[in-house]
Amino acid sequence: MNRLDAIFAPASLAVVGASTTPGKVGHDIFVNILKGGYTGTLYPVNPKARSIASVRAYPTITDIPDEVDLAMIILPPMLAVKAVEDAIANGVKGIVIVSAGFREVGEEGRRIEDQIVAMCREAGVRVIGPNCLGVINPKADVRLNASFSARMPESGNVSFISQSGALCTAVLDFAADREFGFSKFISIGNKADVDELDLLRYLHADPHTEVIMIYLEELRRGPEFIEEVKEITSGENPKPVLVIKSGRTGAGAQAAASHTGALAGTEAVYDAIFQQAGIIRVDSIDELFDYATAFAYKNESALGKLRRKVPNGNRVAIVTNAGGPGIVATDMTVSSGLRLADFHQDTIEALASHLPSAANLHNPVDVIGDAAQDRYENALAAVIRDEGVDGALVILTPQSMTNSLETAKAIARIARRSSKPILCCFMGIVDVSSGVKYLQANGIPVFRFPENAAKAFGALYRYSQWLNRQVLAEFSFQHDVAAAEKIISGCLQRGQTYLGELDGLNLLKAYGFNTLPTHLAETADQAVQIAGEIGYPVVMKIVSPQIVHKSDAGGVKVGLNSDQAVAEAFETIVANAGQFDPGAEITGVLVQKMAPRGVETILGINRYPVFGPLLMFGLGGVFVEIFKDVIFRLAPVNRNSARRMVRSIQGYKLLQGYRGSPPADVRSLEEALVKLSDMVTQHPDIMELDINPLLVHEAGSGFTVADCRIVLKPVDMDDS
Ligand code: ADP
Ligand code: MG
Repeated sequence: MNRLDAIFAPASLAVVGASTTPGKVGHDIFVNILKGGYTGTLYPVNPKARSIASVRAYPTITDIPDEVDLAMIILPPMLAVKAVEDAIANGVKGIVIVSAGFREVGEEGRRIEDQIVAMCREAGVRVIGPNCLGVINPKADVRLNASFSARMPESGNVSFISQSGALCTAVLDFAADREFGFSKFISIGNKADVDELDLLRYLHADPHTEVIMIYLEELRRGPEFIEEVKEITSGENPKPVLVIKSGRTGAGAQAAASHTGALAGTEAVYDAIFQQAGIIRVDSIDELFDYATAFAYKNESALGKLRRKVPNGNRVAIVTNAGGPGIVATDMTVSSGLRLADFHQDTIEALASHLPSAANLHNPVDVIGDAAQDRYENALAAVIRDEGVDGALVILTPQSMTNSLETAKAIARIARRSSKPILCCFMGIVDVSSGVKYLQANGIPVFRFPENAAKAFGALYRYSQWLNRQVLAEFSFQHDVAAAEKIISGCLQRGQTYLGELDGLNLLKAYGFNTLPTHLAETADQAVQIAGEIGYPVVMKIVSPQIVHKSDAGGVKVGLNSDQAVAEAFETIVANAGQFDPGAEITGVLVQKMAPRGVETILGINRYPVFGPLLMFGLGGVFVEIFKDVIFRLAPVNRNSARRMVRSIQGYKLLQGYRGSPPADVRSLEEALVKLSDMVTQHPDIMELDINPLLVHEAGSGFTVADCRIVLKPVDMDDS
């Protein structure tokens, strides 16, 4: 028996700290369990009361004559320790600590919490909480409502994990209004022992859970979380995971002068983690329910197995009895990453034979306001059969001829026969309620507004893309790790944490990055000589420890074509730098070969305390500052992730070639990202890195590093 089963489906349960006073948590939770119709045996524990809500009470858990599976503890921290000790002595398998006053209030609370966890770990007992709202399992053979909430939700196939207790009650209230059912409902509180990853594993294996929803405030695991959740969302027996994340800030990025540092806020890290794990992020509770409704949608396959209805493609057919909502749905379809399907000639002919002449036979199909159920049925049957259609949105507005219940039945008949998802939007509340209820009872997703339906369809489509993603063969690179290590340690031994330009380029070279011949000139004459050796055209750049962004200081000149231009540039650059910052020490001026043309991109690294290194990719130059068109992933990234990164920025179109410019070498970008990931994984001393720009040339011609900035971890810094 899984230890968490004892928490979700205990055969017997003791409420330690049950109270005789209505309104007190210890009273209300006990009564909620009692009134919820718990199918196991319930024991109140209270040393001062003979009975709680007419049920005989026991002074301590050890006085209970029978075996107890689960102890719910509702006591202040100091008393909770003793209660946990007793519960363990009595052989409980699980503990839920509802009370607050632990880690979240300070040092003393944290100490007690740690002590409790240590005791339970030693005894092999799992703990949920403290500082949580409890657990609910509405399934008919359990009916456990061990929570603050007087309302037991209906039984369903969606499970909900919440880090906030307060949000739980709101969600339950909302669910009641929608007649939305749950499989397991868990408030995890401080996550002293059981955390979201433990629960995700459990719910993944739970045959009664089809969709997992999480409300999250912070994560305490990074790479491990990604690896495991990826398996849950897309491995064998995949289950969709929907997350709603509050904007509370947790582990902050290193304060940094680099672009990556400035852009890589906590939200960027979470977005990266969710994307890498295949978790679907939603923005509101409303959306959470909308998506869960769509994802819970299953159909019996030919083999009698339930099959989740995810579309194979993004071509949607819309069937509506009103023009306006049809247009809204069309717009939302497009902005949700979907397309309106083009119908086959046979489909159009079938529609023509069933619909009045005023009807629109093309997508969106308008069956006209006076449509009864037969028109819906015939139109939907025709479009869903079309090979060019991956799913349908059915929109119904109540008109005098509309029969919402019969239309719902017709839709359900077709939905049962088809493996393609059919999402409905019955607009209104009163007039359409019988139809809505019928659809809900038959597991067909129904929404109040076309935009909700279209967005949910978009989420289904994105999930199907995640499930069906191709797995690319990995690159096999031979990096010169020893050379890289030598550069880094040399720098650290000199007490430097900022890697000079030349060292930076050499480090990148050791990882197979194409760099340009670059040398430092201390005088104008030297610059001319170097330029002669590397060949024109050249670029010149100021080198000064105080100047981070060289162009800002007038410290960069490009496209220099002659000795004279180089000599002049030297003087100008030094003068500009002096003007920009009179205190700046000028080391010299770099003379660098001018790179061939290319699209300017930025690649970066920033290291996070809990999650490790974060990689960034985006369009470089001014784009990064103005449009912030960048994407993040936690390292290590494989080629699949690298490809997704490259393709998910807005500016990907620019890389594909635009207005006659040739497509850029996108594959080489995938290589660059994997190389960078290798580098940061192998060298923990690298704190921050910006390559801006990395010039990406025409397809087949690779890329060139034109500028890099690398910061190392100071020797005395903690390994946190
Ligand atoms: P900074 O970012 O410190 O201002 P850069 O070295 O990135 O300085 O130079 C500024 C801009 O000059 C780059 O964004 C790029 O457009 C151009 N540039 C720099 N080096 C080269 C080069 N070797 N070849 C071509 N263009 C370059
Ligand atoms: Mg730059």
